[in-house]
Amino acid sequence: MDAATLSADGAHRVQAQTRLPNFIGGRFVDGGAPFDVRNPATGDVHAVAYEADAAMVDAAVAAARECVEGEWGHMPLARRRALLMKVADGIERRFDEFLEAEIADTGKPRAMAAHLDIPRGAANFRVFADFIASLPDEAFEMDTPDGGRAINYSVRKPLGVVGVIAPWNLPLLLMTWKVAPAMACGNAVIVKPSEETPSTTTLLAEVMNEVGVPAGAFNVLHGFGPNSTGERLTSHPGLRAITFTGETRTGAAIMRSAASTTKALSFELGGKNPAIVFADCDFDAAVAGLARAAFLNTGQVCLAPERIYVERPIFERFVAAMKERAEALRPGLPHDESTDLGPLISHEHREKVLGYYSLAIEEGAKLVTGGGVPDLTGAAAGGYFVEPTIWTGLPQTARVTREEIFGPCCHIAPFDSEEEAICLANDTDYGLASSVWTRELSRAHRVGRAMAVGISWVNCWFLRDLRTAFGGARQSGFGREGGAHSIAFYSEITNICVKV
Ligand code: NAD
Repeated sequence: MDAATLSADGAHRVQAQTRLPNFIGGRFVDGGAPFDVRNPATGDVHAVAYEADAAMVDAAVAAARECVEGEWGHMPLARRRALLMKVADGIERRFDEFLEAEIADTGKPRAMAAHLDIPRGAANFRVFADFIASLPDEAFEMDTPDGGRAINYSVRKPLGVVGVIAPWNLPLLLMTWKVAPAMACGNAVIVKPSEETPSTTTLLAEVMNEVGVPAGAFNVLHGFGPNSTGERLTSHPGLRAITFTGETRTGAAIMRSAASTTKALSFELGGKNPAIVFADCDFDAAVAGLARAAFLNTGQVCLAPERIYVERPIFERFVAAMKERAEALRPGLPHDESTDLGPLISHEHREKVLGYYSLAIEEGAKLVTGGGVPDLTGAAAGGYFVEPTIWTGLPQTARVTREEIFGPCCHIAPFDSEEEAICLANDTDYGLASSVWTRELSRAHRVGRAMAVGISWVNCWFLRDLRTAFGGARQSGFGREGGAHSIAFYSEITNICVKV
C-alpha cells in the first residue's frame, strides 16, 4: 500500500490519507477514478482507492492468465506450498499494519480484529497449503469388454483465472478463505474487495511481492459492483470461475453476468439464521453463546441468529437474560479498551438497519431493548452506531422475521414442542446456519440434522474447522467450500483411463 498522501487529483481531500491503487501483474498501477474510503467509527475519510476501468480489468486478466499458464500454474506443489506458508508468515510479520488497516475500514473493536480477522487471514493460507498436500486423488480399476483391465486415475489442474468478489463484514478473513485454496490449486486470482473495505487486500498484495509470489498470481482491482469493476470482472470471458460472498440479490446479478461465458460459480450468500433453545439446555452457556452470536461484529456476520426460538418454560427468563447482555454492551471507538460494540459499516447500512427498527414497531413488535442510536460524544458521534436491539411478539410472517437485516438485533419467540421448533426454524427462504441448544444427546443429533441449512451447530456457534464443508442451502448459496470441497471447486480434474 502506497502510504503517500494525495496531491493533484485528491487535493480537495484531507491530507494523510492512504492511497490504495490497483495491483496488476505484480505492480501497483496508477489510474482509475478515485473514491473515498471512510472509517465507520468516525465517518472520516481515511483512504482513497481507485476504481479499475475496463482496460485495467483486461490487463489484470492478461497478467493472471500469463502467470497461470506459465510459472505459477506449473510450479512444483512443494514450492507453491512453501510460498503460501510465507504469505501467512508475512501477514503475521506485518500483523499491526493489517490490524490497523482492518480497523480503519470497518471500525470494529481492536480486540475482535486482533483475535479473529487477522489471525484467520494468516491461518487460511497455512490450512490450505497443508491440506492440498495430503488430499488423495481417486483411482478406479475396471474390467474391459475384452477381458482385460483398465486403470482410471484423476489428476487436478488449475482452473485458470479465478475472480474473487468479497464483502465488507470480515474483509481479510473472507477474502483469504477464497484466495488461499484458489492459489493452492495453482490458479491466478483477481480479487475485488468491497468498496467499503479495500485496505487489507491491498496490503496483502505487498506481502505477495515481499515473499516472492510470481507477478500475476495475485491481482487486486478496486471498485463497485454494477456498471463498475465487479460487473466488468464477472462478465469477462478470460475468467474461468467466480467465487463470491455477499448478498443474495448480488449473487443473482453475478449469475446473470457470468452466464454467457459459463463460468464455474461458488456463492456464499445471505441468511436469516435460526437458533433453537430447549428448556433442558445449559442456560448460561446458551445465553452467553447467543448474545455473542447476535451481537458480534455489530450483528454483521452472515451466520448471526436473527431469529431465536425458545421453549416456553424458559422463554421469559431467556429474554430477560439476553436483554441484560445487550444493555451491557458498550459502543465506542475501536482502540478504546472498554468498547465491545463497533459501528455498522456505512451511513447507508445504518439507514437500512434503522428502517427495520422502525418497521418492527409498525409490524407490532414488543421492543425489549434498543431500537435507536446510542448517544455518543467526541469522534464516535460521527460514527454509524446503532443500539443492540431485541424484539418479541412478531408473527412468523413479519418482514422483520423473514428478511436479513444484518445488524445487532434479533427476534425471540416461544415454542412448545420439538416439531414446532423445527418447523419455525426451517420456515425461511434462506438456509445458511443454525444453532441448537440442548443437553439431551439424541435430540441434539436429531434436531441438528433436521435443520435445512449448510452449517448446523449444536451447543456452539461459529466454531469452525476449516477442513469442513461451509456454505448455504436454498437462497443462502450453492456449492461448498472448506477442505476438500474448496480444492474440488478450484481444480479442473482430468480423468486418465489407461488400458492395461
Ligand atoms: P454485497 O453483495 O453488497 O457486496 C459484495 C461484493 O459484491 C462487493 O465487493 C460488491 O462491490 C460486489 N458487487 C455488488 N454488486 C455486484 C455486481 N452486480 N457484480 C459484481 N460484483 C458486485 O454484500 P455486502 O453488503 O458486502 O456483504 C453483506 C452480505 O454478505 C450479507 O448479505 C451477508 O449475509 C453476506 N455474507 C455471506 C457470507 C456467507 O458465508 N454466506 C459471509 C459474509 C457475508
